[in-house]
Amino acid sequence: MLYERSAGAVVFYYEDKHIKYLLLLYGAGHWDFPKGNIEKDEEEIETVRREIFEETGIKNLAFIPNFKHEIRYFYKKKGGLVHKEVVFYLVRSYEKEVTLSSEHKDYVWLDYEGALRRLTYKTAKDTLIKAHNFLMSMDERL
Ligand code: ATP
Repeated sequence: MLYERSAGAVVFYYEDKHIKYLLLLYGAGHWDFPKGNIEKDEEEIETVRREIFEETGIKNLAFIPNFKHEIRYFYKKKGGLVHKEVVFYLVRSYEKEVTLSSEHKDYVWLDYEGALRRLTYKTAKDTLIKAHNFLMSMDERL
């Protein structure tokens, strides 16, 4: 079985006390967070910075300490089964403008409920629930 490991982030923008989450429409048709393959000798956090920049053009960001959430799933690639693990961090963006790469078809900034509805996979929804609860618990420090 093939094995893949990616790193990504729940990216949010905070404005007038409202949190907006950034979702991307993948070429395969699902809505998900920015993420990508961890390259050789790369730290997870470097992957996240690099992927966010490549996929959205966002550079001005900050990692929220103490948040990390891992998911796993299986999918079929060229007839073979891939076991995939993705680790998600929580990232605040200070930019709202997004420049998409050719990998993705669309993007959207949505509030919590909207993002929860839009995300395609249960594991992604669980990641958002955890990230949102984490942010709510530190609301006054944002
Ligand atoms: P990456 O962004 O890590 O470079 P990718 O764009 O190559 O990855 P994925 O987003 O992992 O690929 O999608 C590969 C396949 O897995 C697609 O068929 C997709 O529908 C499916 N998939 C993606 N996320 C999940 C998930 N959370 N649960 C189940 N299947 C998923």
